[in-house]
Amino acid sequence: MSRTLLIAEHDGKQLNPSTAKALTGALAVGHPVDIAVFAADAGPVAEQAASLEGADKVLKVERAENEHPLAATLAPQIEALAADYSHVFMPSTTFGKDVMPRAAALLGSPQVSDIMEVLDAHSFKRPIYANNVIVTVKAPSDTVVTGTIRTASFKDAPAGGQAEITDKSLDVELPGHSRFVELEVHKSDRPDLQSAQRVVSGGRGVGNKENFEIIYRIADKLGAGVGASRAAVDAGFVPNDMQVGQTGKIVAPELYMCFGISGAIQHVTGIKDAGTIVAVNKDPDAPIFEIADIGLVGDLFEIIPELEEKLG
Ligand SMILES: Cc1cc2nc3c(=O)[nH]c(=O)nc-3n(C[C@H](O)[C@H](O)[C@H](O)COP(=O)(O)OP(=O)(O)OC[C@H]3O[C@@H](n4cnc5c(N)ncnc54)[C@H](O)[C@@H]3O)c2cc1C
Repeated sequence: MSRTLLIAEHDGKQLNPSTAKALTGALAVGHPVDIAVFAADAGPVAEQAASLEGADKVLKVERAENEHPLAATLAPQIEALAADYSHVFMPSTTFGKDVMPRAAALLGSPQVSDIMEVLDAHSFKRPIYANNVIVTVKAPSDTVVTGTIRTASFKDAPAGGQAEITDKSLDVELPGHSRFVELEVHKSDRPDLQSAQRVVSGGRGVGNKENFEIIYRIADKLGAGVGASRAAVDAGFVPNDMQVGQTGKIVAPELYMCFGISGAIQHVTGIKDAGTIVAVNKDPDAPIFEIADIGLVGDLFEIIPELEEKLG
């Protein structure tokens, strides 16, 4: 059977935007794509998934344990669901990177991670060495293909779909060794870093946690998400869910503005798909200027207030 299953990412209420991007990647395989929503009450998220153009069916997999989905409890359910599919994908987000390898292991399938291009149903391009090398990998054809889809490489599947929503009950015993205890989320009213159209980031050059206010201020003026370099995270200026780069988040905004960031390869790898990159750094030889579309040599503490004034 040639059919693709995409596992939706959501918080129980809202479909995460990564699912719409991963759907575009999944559709590139050329088979019908069903979206599975694992939740305690999957209704609202299933409706949102069904409205994505290109989705064939939406499967609601409801059980109490899915209220707080964990990799350990989702993986056996994905394994059971995969019996009807030739391909199973998740977005290449922190959550997808946690869940999919477990499901792939249960399915005995060598997972293709970070798919950035689909060449055919079994051949994919993916980045390695911090995006410096793109490899073509071939998945075996005698087993289900499992993979994570790099959301920065695909556009959102547009709204306007009307997929059929069906209930799916799975007779799967879930492992008791892992259970949900508590979720601590850094709350922010700012746009989500990975789906924001504009992102403003600060680095070690910002100096300290208090100074980071200047970054938040300019970001709010621009309606932007806020990111940071690892040096800024390690120094405790900001929480680590704001880190952009190889070991942080991969972002693809239309506008990426970075202040006091040198442009180390591990940071730059996270912004390769950004539209326009604007860099402000007081060192004219900073490597960030090699990839910036617009570079300004100067002190961020002088430039940001000027910019704020101009923005009104
Ligand atoms: C395995 C591995 C994974 C990593 N993953 C990541 C990752 O995911 N993300 C990431 O960011 N890094 C990552 N790093 C770290 C990376 O190598 C760099 O150390 C880090 O990106 C540097 O952060 P920075 O540019 O803020 O700091 P620095 O390199 O110290 O640069 C600070 C910059 O601020 C400028 N500056 C200082 N004061 C001002 C001012 N007043 N106005 C304007 N400019 C000013 C300086 O000229 C300098 O260029 C990783 C490293 C390793 C080894």
